[in-house]
Amino acid sequence: GFQIYTAGGMMVKPGPGIIKLNANENQMGSSPKALEAMEKELSKCNLYPMESITNLKQKIAEHVGMPVSCITAFNGSGAGIQAVAEAFLNPDDELLICSPTYMQYYRLPAQFGAKLVEVFGKDGVSTDLDALSAAITDKTKLIYICNPNNPTGTLLCPDKLSTFIDDLPDHVVCVIDEAYIDWVADDSYPSMVSKVLCGKNVIVLRTFSKIYGLAGIRCGYAVASEEIITCLSAISGIFGTNRVAAAGAAAALEDKEFYKAAQDNNTEQRAYLSKELEKLGCTVVPSSTSFIYFAPHCDTKECMSYLESKGVYIRYFSEEYIRVSIGLPMQNQKFLDTIGEFIEKSCV
Ligand code: PLP
Repeated sequence: GFQIYTAGGMMVKPGPGIIKLNANENQMGSSPKALEAMEKELSKCNLYPMESITNLKQKIAEHVGMPVSCITAFNGSGAGIQAVAEAFLNPDDELLICSPTYMQYYRLPAQFGAKLVEVFGKDGVSTDLDALSAAITDKTKLIYICNPNNPTGTLLCPDKLSTFIDDLPDHVVCVIDEAYIDWVADDSYPSMVSKVLCGKNVIVLRTFSKIYGLAGIRCGYAVASEEIITCLSAISGIFGTNRVAAAGAAAALEDKEFYKAAQDNNTEQRAYLSKELEKLGCTVVPSSTSFIYFAPHCDTKECMSYLESKGVYIRYFSEEYIRVSIGLPMQNQKFLDTIGEFIEKSCV
């Protein structure tokens, strides 16, 4: 079954000869426009970040087409995931998820004396909205849906997700974690931010850590009703993030060139890696993200150890599945060559 397993490669130090494809980081680096803006901002670090946060929220508001009052920033969307739980979860409440999904959700209920309720998709990898609907009770307070999903890379049908949100009872708050939505190849794929205006308790979370290549600065945001945003801001503090991160994130939103280059590399390399892994006999879950979840049909822990012994770090999930982040062509090739060696030796 699905296990939360963080040992091994997560803590690996980046460096020469290390292929770090274990944490869904952007291997193209950071948006150059963001780096430039952050360098400039350093000279203002003696000042509280009021105007830089206001500017960031304004830029986000334009980007998502929502009023500024519906936006708040965090030190990474992970802090947003935590703030939502802190705002809404009381003892005996239920937090509902469809497994396997993002690790952080699993740790939330225990912190607040709440209960984790897990459903499983029929195919073991996709988010099952019918199963989630059927599992809602009077005690359900929060539902976390990661779309596209980490670690499996699967994407929901937007119409079905929209209907699911419309049909939610009023006592339920639903988080749509869109950390990976920028990697969806279809540019017309809709964000669920539009649902925020429909009077539903929906919170959309987004991050600058992925396509903008800014995981190290810790900046993410929520889009939700004014009422919910007021509540989340009270938890994350009046600023939510710092001046340098806010300047970098605001500039990144305008760096169309970097965004497109990152997306193009990812789309091309995702297709290549998927095809090559299949040629090696792996079962590959079709991915809409910057990583691929696959079953190599061999001992996955031994496979990880072999890769690590060659300086290639990916992520373990279960006896069946492992996940590789999509990197630059040379990194992906090194990963493919190395896992190919292991599969040839061990899996036949
Ligand atoms: N949500 C998902 C699904 C993620 O995979 C991650 C990070 O990997 C996050 C949220 C948190 O990202 P950050 O805190 O860097 O914004």
